[in-house]
Amino acid sequence: MSRKSTGYLDTEVHGRFDRRKTVFYRRDIFTGFDHFRPDTLDPGDPELLELAEARASWTLHDNYPGAFCDTLMGNRKLVRNHAPFRYCFAEPRTAAENISAVAKRFGASLVGMTELDSRWLYSHKRNGNPVTLPDRAVWAVVMLVEMDREEISTSPDFRAAAESGRAYSRMADIVGAVGEYIRLLGYYARSCGNDTALSIPLAMDAGLGVLGRNGLLLTRDFGPRVRICKVITDLELVQTPNEYPASEEVCSGCTLCAEACEAEALSLSESPTWEILTESNNPGVLRWQFNPEKCFDFWLEIGRDCSNCIAACPASSILSKLMN
Ligand code: SF4
Ligand code: SF4
Repeated sequence: MSRKSTGYLDTEVHGRFDRRKTVFYRRDIFTGFDHFRPDTLDPGDPELLELAEARASWTLHDNYPGAFCDTLMGNRKLVRNHAPFRYCFAEPRTAAENISAVAKRFGASLVGMTELDSRWLYSHKRNGNPVTLPDRAVWAVVMLVEMDREEISTSPDFRAAAESGRAYSRMADIVGAVGEYIRLLGYYARSCGNDTALSIPLAMDAGLGVLGRNGLLLTRDFGPRVRICKVITDLELVQTPNEYPASEEVCSGCTLCAEACEAEALSLSESPTWEILTESNNPGVLRWQFNPEKCFDFWLEIGRDCSNCIAACPASSILSKLMN
């Protein structure tokens, strides 16, 4: 079994991350950050149209409580009961092939599967409750949603922010439907967006990419131009092998993301480090330093999210050469 993500861990130091430590949680509480700030623009300013589109792009994500488990748990009526039986797949490989095909039909761009490493589970949710799962839920279906290259290339304009929101809304649709599909076969399934578990190490375990200097998952097909969602289940699946090279092979000779970052939140150093910068960084992980506070302050300054470090990244062509 390939577990490339654990090669970056100091197991003496690393522990499950508390989601309340993320900059999104801590700054959200104090700022009430919202992309949609029409009060900052004059009536008739054409930028209002772009701002409205960017905010509207989140509609499905923000208004589909069945898609994500944190809200799903309090809204059971949206989820049908488990089947009174379990559909019997001939073998785990058949189940994996079926779930992968169904996820792609629902809109996933890439799908990988992995045994769930409990170290990637958050210790606590945003509301302070501990994250717990049934002991039998030991598999994860990890799905990537591609964001459009041309739209993302406009970052930090509203057009790129709208593409980000559209991807989150597609993610809500996909992860909600795939979780429901698995439940209708009689198995446990917990649909997750950014909640419950860290998406990037799960995606690495599921053979979908490698961690980049920009703190994002780098994929051969789309570089970092993806959003990640996952379904945690007790349906036995098959581990997807990880063919990706180490981060250093991809990013040591490139600093384009850090140069494109107007907030100076990304590192220009040649090698990754164990040192952390802020409370938002989980210690015990070897990676390039990233300052989420500087990043998020920039988002607040411009009134929308930024994708400069995604737009600038040539990882797709680097990985295509390295993996040939
Ligand atoms: S999203 Fe923008 S501000 Fe944040 S790290 Fe990337 S380039 Fe920098
Ligand atoms: S821009 Fe270059 S250094 Fe940054 S993540 Fe992409 S490949 Fe790595």
